[in-house]
Amino acid sequence: MARSVLVTGGNRGIGLAIARRLAAGGDSVTVTSRSGEPLDGLAVVRCDVRDAASVDAAFAETEKRQGPVEVLVANAGVTRDQLLALMSEDDFAAVLDTNLAGAYRAARRAVRGMMRMRRGRLIFISSVVGLYGSGGQANYAASKAGLVGLARSLARELGSRGITSNVVAPGFVDSDMTAALPEERKAAILSAVPLGRYAAAEEVAAAVAFLGGPDAGYITGAVIPVDGGLGMGH
Ligand code: NDP
Repeated sequence: MARSVLVTGGNRGIGLAIARRLAAGGDSVTVTSRSGEPLDGLAVVRCDVRDAASVDAAFAETEKRQGPVEVLVANAGVTRDQLLALMSEDDFAAVLDTNLAGAYRAARRAVRGMMRMRRGRLIFISSVVGLYGSGGQANYAASKAGLVGLARSLARELGSRGITSNVVAPGFVDSDMTAALPEERKAAILSAVPLGRYAAAEEVAAAVAFLGGPDAGYITGAVIPVDGGLGMGH
């Protein structure tokens, strides 16, 4: 049966691959984007996850079209890399506000309907660096580690309502975000990845499809790595 799915930041990169994968599996999928520009074959709502009213409006529009959200993929994320000594309050706060508080805002709004339905899947897109650490990314890694605490708390809080809450932690994925890295940084990363290559966004989408699907009904509070072995041992 088609489920109602919302993917934040689903207009490009990993989020778009997730949305396309779930839509191909027969789900009704809406993606959020900040521009609200139309996308081929997917419903789009405008949303800035830094703004609770904008999140609320995006859910209301999605629910009107496809019913209460049963699968939330909290994917929207940004980087503002800087060494700690040079990292401004604004660089730190802006990344936390989008990546961590944005996921909290989306989850808080999503669970309203999920609690009524007594089922739901919360899937948070973290990163290998949340647990591995990453020099020059203290803000980003802190936000991604925070998602693990958020997801696991919600797993405990909402399990009795039939709602699961899990994290997918991708390693380095071909996307606009990694295209911006300097060449020597990219080479250093690849040399540390046992599989010796970046992930395709579709490989992250496959893990999300599994967690959102019927075979993952008894999985909650998990952190699923899709990182080519980079973070093993977490
Ligand atoms: P992209 O930079 O390609 O896409 C980021 C997405 O987040 C865009 O859709 C963007 O929307 C959206 N977004 C950013 N800020 C906001 C906001 N304030 N409100 C709503 N949407 C927002 O990144 P990726 O596809 O690479 O990354 C997707 C997720 O995966 C992120 O959470 C990232 O941290 C994580 N990740 C990525 C890895 C990688 O190697 N690429 C590795 C591990 C994790 P807009 O188009 O409007 O800017």
